[in-house]
Amino acid sequence: MNAADRAPGAGPGPLDLLAELFEGEGGAEYFGEEVTQAQHMLQAGALAEAAGAPAHLVAAALLHDVGHFHGTVTGRDLMEEGRDNRHGHTGADWLARWFGPEVTGPVRLHVAAKRYLCTAEPGYAALLSEASVHTLRVQGGPMTPEQARAFEALPGAADAVAVRRWDEQAKDPLMATPDFAHFRPLLAGLLLT
Ligand code: FE
Repeated sequence: MNAADRAPGAGPGPLDLLAELFEGEGGAEYFGEEVTQAQHMLQAGALAEAAGAPAHLVAAALLHDVGHFHGTVTGRDLMEEGRDNRHGHTGADWLARWFGPEVTGPVRLHVAAKRYLCTAEPGYAALLSEASVHTLRVQGGPMTPEQARAFEALPGAADAVAVRRWDEQAKDPLMATPDFAHFRPLLAGLLLT
């Protein structure tokens, strides 16, 4: 390979990479839910947008499960073995090359936010899908009251809780969602320079 083949800037940019994930692997089943992984993530982004959320939160909702993709991102195989794949952390670490903490923070904390909400809001656990109840178990179950207090004090905790609520709602097989291209301008505006 000569130097020109490795020229900086060659190859797909971050938004092309993400588009490829949504349009390729994202069409696959999403852990027993009635929507594909791409539909789920697009729905979460659309719900955030419909709620009038700021751009960074729409992006976080759209990208929250990127850590479930394998290949470029990895993680999915562990979950299929019934272990926690730490997909919030994997996804946030992967996205941090292109997006700031206002986007990656809620992605990182969206699993913790589920464990938090199950403790902080009586009845929240009843909103979880069957698959999400199963993963809650491998993710450590509901937080203890002490853990919940510590979570609330984390920067970005409120944003993570907001993403989590859209996450729970974004499993509707009948909901029409915009495609990934719809979100590209919003994502482009958040890319680190
Ligand atoms: Fe999700």
